[in-house]
Amino acid sequence: MNRTITIIPRPLSIEYGDKTIGISKKSVSICINGETRNDIHNTLKTAFKITGIDTSEKGLPVFVDIRIKDNDENNEAYSLNITEEGIRIKAEGINGAFYGCISAGQIISGADGELPQVSISDKPVHSWRGFLLDTCRSFYSTTFIKKMLDACALHKLNILHWHLTDDQGWRFEVPEYPLLTEVGSKRQDNTLPEAIDGFYDEGKESRRWYTDEEIKDIVRYAKERCINIIPEVEFPGHSSALLAAYPEFGCTGGPYHVENRWGIFPDVLCLGNDKIFDIYQAALEKITKLFPSDYIHIGGDECPHERWDVCPKCLERMKKEGLDSTAELQAWGTTKIASMVAALGKTPIGWDEVLENNKHNALPANVIVQSWRGIEGGIKAASMNHKVIMSPCERFYLNFKNKDSFEEPGRLGVTTTKKLYTFSPAGKELKLENPDQKNLILGGECALWTEKLPHSRNAEYLLFPRFCAASETLWLPEEEKDFEDFKVRIEYHKKLLHQLDYRFYEGELE
Ligand SMILES: [Zn+2]
Repeated sequence: MNRTITIIPRPLSIEYGDKTIGISKKSVSICINGETRNDIHNTLKTAFKITGIDTSEKGLPVFVDIRIKDNDENNEAYSLNITEEGIRIKAEGINGAFYGCISAGQIISGADGELPQVSISDKPVHSWRGFLLDTCRSFYSTTFIKKMLDACALHKLNILHWHLTDDQGWRFEVPEYPLLTEVGSKRQDNTLPEAIDGFYDEGKESRRWYTDEEIKDIVRYAKERCINIIPEVEFPGHSSALLAAYPEFGCTGGPYHVENRWGIFPDVLCLGNDKIFDIYQAALEKITKLFPSDYIHIGGDECPHERWDVCPKCLERMKKEGLDSTAELQAWGTTKIASMVAALGKTPIGWDEVLENNKHNALPANVIVQSWRGIEGGIKAASMNHKVIMSPCERFYLNFKNKDSFEEPGRLGVTTTKKLYTFSPAGKELKLENPDQKNLILGGECALWTEKLPHSRNAEYLLFPRFCAASETLWLPEEEKDFEDFKVRIEYHKKLLHQLDYRFYEGELE
């Protein structure tokens, strides 16, 4: 029999005993000690459900002892012991108890009539373990988003970074500006022909934004899985959808259209126009109502400045603010948006471009920097005492191909599972001026940008198993990771992915 624990992400410490414990069926009966709030039982039941394990009165006993210390419900550490009486989990937070049950569920799911006698002690190295889903380039159903929240929980990821606005679509309602969704969610020219044979056609979906009720439902679903959702509203680039809805916010006045192509577009928000801050104020207030998260992502990436160079309003703003170039306008705008986010009681996050051109407008100290063009942005941000999220594209972008083959889907480059796995956000590749700055590296996010991925089943194929590798690289300290061991475990884990109906790539991992 297989006596090895094949959990992904692998627990920090596993000690094996001599015995095995026979189990007759794959269901559990949960018994909670300590904290016995009503919602906790549901949360733990959900953890087992995510791993494909039912709960029933006559199932294998799982004793969960939760003693919350210092009001820290979110403590993620847990211990797990398999004994002849059943499984014992101890945690000092709801999240730790949840992760203990996820581990127990994975162990039971992989068992073949017997459980190994083990003692596990586990906690993550990083507090920020995220997955970015782009729902702008391709629009996904709430069913798929929930399925991805289950996948996050199964792999102990605690952040879903929800990319909600971009050139190709604006995906949430702002009541004062109804055209953002009515116009900004719809592409003008679908590349696919209209279906005439009754088959599903992506051009025919009528609504391509998420209603408030849908968003609240997703936020609730995430919370039950110990996941925090971070909404992202792009500023000031990647704004074609906003401009298509309200052309007066662009430098030329338009006309503009919701983009059907991918890339970087010259038409961005006119930073000489004060009214753009009204629309962002309304959007940010709405985001604040919908998402309880302490953070709002304000984008900031890939913003060309060529329209600003010839726009009288932008040039006037530059003069008034004493800026040396239009490039510095972006830093000025970032400072303003960041202060609006802070005034709403939230912490702003920006892509690493927010570190540039800020001679006259220093990046506010509270801005967290997400490093995507390699790790250099993260190093620079840490040297300036900013907190950092690592998402270097060549390691953490799951829309890259799995292998260098014309036949494989994916774009922009190749990232094998090994290439991803061997990256650690605060690992040896990170050469910091001062080793203490490592504390500023909160963790990382793997990302799925969804150009050319209109169907979620194809998105899943690109995601797995690299998503699983990302979870382990965010959970374990670098020195505890072992790719050869991961390769063995992923073969067992694939059976679980298959059982849970996730598609995955099956070719070489390195
Ligand atoms: Zn302008």
